[in-house]
Formats: sequence, structure tokens, C-alpha cells
Amino acid sequence: MQPFEKPKADLEQYPTAAHIASRMLMAIESDFGELEDRSVCDLGCGAGVLSIGAAVLGAGSVISVDVDPDALRVAQGNAGEFEGAPIDFVLSDVAQFGGTQGGARLRCDTVVMNPPFGTKRKGADVEFLRAAAAISCGAVYSLHKTSTRAHIAKVAASELQMEAQVLAELRYDLPKTMSFHKKKSVDVEVDLWRFEVSDGSRAAALASLVGGLGLGAG
Ligand code: SAH
Repeated sequence: MQPFEKPKADLEQYPTAAHIASRMLMAIESDFGELEDRSVCDLGCGAGVLSIGAAVLGAGSVISVDVDPDALRVAQGNAGEFEGAPIDFVLSDVAQFGGTQGGARLRCDTVVMNPPFGTKRKGADVEFLRAAAAISCGAVYSLHKTSTRAHIAKVAASELQMEAQVLAELRYDLPKTMSFHKKKSVDVEVDLWRFEVSDGSRAAALASLVGGLGLGAG
């Protein structure tokens, strides 16, 4: 697979390494059976590794969303290598999911994502969780920094009404890809989460997203 051409620091464009992507997707399919024949959304798809992996494991359809047209172009090229992979690409900011444009009407069974960890833009990680809760009617699988575990658990339970479980602790090997990186590579501890979306999750998520867009009442 082709990587990001020029990774953008403000969008936290770090690709999921192949071994992490495959462990994550195999766990979702073999332990929970939530890829095969399901509709899957990959939020912040980047170069598309999770989307393509989900398609290879038998997803019925995959919708891959990213805010960066350059990333989508690379992802489209990568998906083209897997002829017949049922992947559609959507150019959207996930923060728009509470509005009337972008992905507002997207729905799927399962969300898989490796979103920004909120290191460059504070709150980006939670914004992705809200967007995922707004569109999924099943489960959300996501990677988050282990150091944010308590925060993520709190947002999931008290704001988004999702049952949350850390499935695995991973060591995410971050190679030097940005000019401000000083070391050749850094290990980041990352949790693989599974969130179970409840009836109330979508409404709660939409309310937060709409509030965030300044479209809320009052
Ligand atoms: N999921 C991919 C890429 C991870 S990097 C992988 O596993 O390899 C995070 C991705 O989120 C980048 O592609 C970035 O462009 C995208 N992104 C960042 N902010 C976004 C937003 N607000 N809406 C949609 N995509 C966003």
C-alpha cells in the first residue's frame, strides 16, 4: 500500500502499521463477527489500510471518510489494487456529522477507526467518537492513547451512553515522518477499544456535534 504522500501534522496523519491493522481487524472478526457481511465505516481513513482490510475480511460494504482529498486519492489508488473491494469514499469533516451536510445521513453497523489522538488539535479524538456514535447502530472499534484511557471511558459512559471495553494494549511504533520529530522512532502505548452503541448514543452524539458546530438551541 502507498503511504500518505506528504503527511499533514495538523491532521495527525499517522498510518496504522500493517501488523496493528491486521491484529485489530482479525480481533473484530474472529472474536465478535462484526465485519463479515456488515456495513462498515472507516472514519479518518487516511491511506485506507483499515478500509481495505475490512473489505478483505468480507465486509458487505465499506464507506471511507476523510477530510483530506490528498489522503482520499491515495486511498482510492490503494483500494484499486483490490479489485471489486466494495469501498466508497466520502470527503467530509467528521465534525459535520451533526449538521445537514457531509455525513449527516451516514449509517452503518460497525465503525473501525484509528483517529487523531488529539495531540495536535485537542478534542479531535472525542470528536471522532461522537461522529462514530452518531452513525453506528452496532459497535465502534477505535485506537486511543493509553494515557487518555480514563478520559475516553468517561466520555463514552457519561456523554455518549456507550458500553466501553479495552480489548488490548498495543505498542504503536511511530516512525519519524514529520519535520518536528527528533527521534528515529517512538513507541506510543495505544488501547484498542470496543464501544457498544445504545439507543441513546446517536441522539447524545448528535446533540454534542450540533453544539460543537454552534448550531445548538440558544
Ligand atoms: N486511519 C488511517 C489514518 C490515521 S491518521 C490509518 O489507520 O492508517 C488520521 C486520519 O484522520 C488522517 O487521514 C486525517 O486526514 C484524518 N482526519 C483528521 N481530522 C479529520 C476530520 N476532522 N474529519 C475527517 N478526517 C480527519
